[in-house]
Amino acid sequence: MSTLFIADLHLQQGEEAKTSAFLDFLRNHAVHSEALYIIGDLFDVWIGDDEQQPLHRIVAQALSQLQIPCYFIAGNRDFLLGQRFADASQLILLASPQLITLYQVPTLILHGDSLCTEDSAYQRLRYWLHQPLVQRLFLSLPLSWRQTMAQKLRKRSCCANQQKTQRIMDVNPQEVVALLEQSGAERLIHGHTHRAARHIITLEQRDQHPERQAERIVLGAWEQSASALQIDARGAQLLEFPF
Ligand code: MN
Repeated sequence: MSTLFIADLHLQQGEEAKTSAFLDFLRNHAVHSEALYIIGDLFDVWIGDDEQQPLHRIVAQALSQLQIPCYFIAGNRDFLLGQRFADASQLILLASPQLITLYQVPTLILHGDSLCTEDSAYQRLRYWLHQPLVQRLFLSLPLSWRQTMAQKLRKRSCCANQQKTQRIMDVNPQEVVALLEQSGAERLIHGHTHRAARHIITLEQRDQHPERQAERIVLGAWEQSASALQIDARGAQLLEFPF
């Protein structure tokens, strides 16, 4: 048996091919695994559980029919996804970062945007967007206001990202090392950067701890094809399926 990880699907109302690929993935792959972890940006935008688009209902129904535990860690696009949607889709909401033991390997999972510390403008925005009071205020606004605000925010972030270098948009290596050292994890799994890859990281000897190696696995985004990570007792494997 194996465990599956996906992230950065960025599902949107109207993108039928991608939505069907996700439903196929649940039907053909997820059902044969022990658990599914969705680690952020399942949806391209989420402005509150009260916005009930047909896409949301389809996804909730498909997830709730899965017979395996399905966990969710929020991304930078769908961090407002709440308990109401989680209940409807039988998702188990996890805090981030989350340390789990997977086939005896201490594994740390998170979306990954918090690791992009060189993007200071984004980190400032992130700080405010994650204040509980700001979130409560936003969620109390009429739906149409929230839709307009989310649209503006996305446009602004899109323009700003075009000015940023590849390095600024990637994870900060020191941040990765610090997280691996603090947590004791041997595997770090994240998405967000859309740069699917497996990196070996050597952690230097420090205090009582000898030198050791850890792995950072970056999940692929669902852009041209579907992407997932499969882990079992033998190891990890990045998978790709055409839409
Ligand atoms: Mn993201």
